[in-house]
Amino acid sequence: MRLLLLLLAILPLAMAAPKSSATDRLAIRYDYFKVYSLFIENEQQLEELKEIYEDISVHVLNELAGPGHSYNIIVGPLLQKYVEGKLNELKIIFKVIVDDLQKLLDKSAVDKDSQMEWESYHTLDTIYDWVDKECAAHDYLECKVIGQSYEGRDIKSIRLSKREGNKAIFLEGNIHAMEWISSATVTFLLNELINSEDPEMQRLSEEYDWIVVPMVNPDGFVYTHEVERLWRKNRRPNGATNSSGPCYGIDMNRNFDYHWGGAGWNIDEPCDHWFGGHEPNTEIEILSLQSFVSSFEDGYIRSYMAFHAYGQYVLLPYGHSNTEFPPNYEQMKRIAAAFSDAASEPYGSAFTYGASGLLNYVVSGAAKDWAYGVKNIPFTCTVELRDKGTYGFFLPSNQITEVGVEVAAGLKGLVNKAAEEGIFD
Ligand SMILES: [Zn+2]
Repeated sequence: MRLLLLLLAILPLAMAAPKSSATDRLAIRYDYFKVYSLFIENEQQLEELKEIYEDISVHVLNELAGPGHSYNIIVGPLLQKYVEGKLNELKIIFKVIVDDLQKLLDKSAVDKDSQMEWESYHTLDTIYDWVDKECAAHDYLECKVIGQSYEGRDIKSIRLSKREGNKAIFLEGNIHAMEWISSATVTFLLNELINSEDPEMQRLSEEYDWIVVPMVNPDGFVYTHEVERLWRKNRRPNGATNSSGPCYGIDMNRNFDYHWGGAGWNIDEPCDHWFGGHEPNTEIEILSLQSFVSSFEDGYIRSYMAFHAYGQYVLLPYGHSNTEFPPNYEQMKRIAAAFSDAASEPYGSAFTYGASGLLNYVVSGAAKDWAYGVKNIPFTCTVELRDKGTYGFFLPSNQITEVGVEVAAGLKGLVNKAAEEGIFD
């Protein structure tokens, strides 16, 4: 049974993957693949779902952390009947949220020759061309390549500084490859800081320095454009193999060296999406990021914000525990509340805030915990952008501008509250 199901699972991928030319790699397609949202009520259902996941090739999109959460899974056409039957049998409440995943992905198709704007998603080249152009046009931007990815792509940074003596806010983008809304939002914010005529935005751009790394994971990002839209990790072969060959990549937001290697579902499975590495700090991309952060004098960077998808959360340290809290946790909550209040103003989007271990699930090795725990940056967070699960990781491109607008509003609230709380003193 297991082998048959495995074959059934792989077939649609193999059949659907077109070979455009001898030199092109395969692009994995998701024609007629459905996305299901499941609500897991109890431990038993969770264990059963993990078993389904291990038995057949359903793609689970979220870490199966605990009961009381919804999880999205992708199921190919030949397996849908079987999976639905199984879910009914287990009394797991589910609904189909996407009928044909490929159609949804096609809606956000990327034009290779496009110019930068925030109504569609873009390739790495388009994003980097825009960064280079802005850098060339403004003296107050200092642009640096902070390192190369495993496959040799640049990891670019932009530092905006208009005034001596400012403290800095750090914005991290796209450490997870498939979360395209992350780099789209971070570049939207940077564009606002540079080009917006909004007086409040211009004040933030004068009174604070801004350090932006829009693309921490360029290899994974390119891979999501060219081969597999659903890729999460970087692309370094990690030494393991499974039935489809060598396994690639580390989940870089599980690889930071702060209480590394603790909890996290399948964090120790090299062929899975959440593999945190054989040890901490193994990936060239995050080593480059860490040494870049460390290249500034202590006390200069006062806030570190990592942008992710999805769920609309401001996740605070710590991730590794739900019983231990940072010394200034209450203060960070007040600052996150200010983000949440302000971000809801433009379109009513609600952002929930609190310690990630408490709110989401316990997981270690994230950037925000390293920035707080190792670099002593007094306000750090992971912002999980839109939405709350309707489209999840496949947020249509016609929402990019709205996300940018609401996050810019939230950021103004956050920075002003952080100032009032003495974060920049
Ligand atoms: Zn993420």
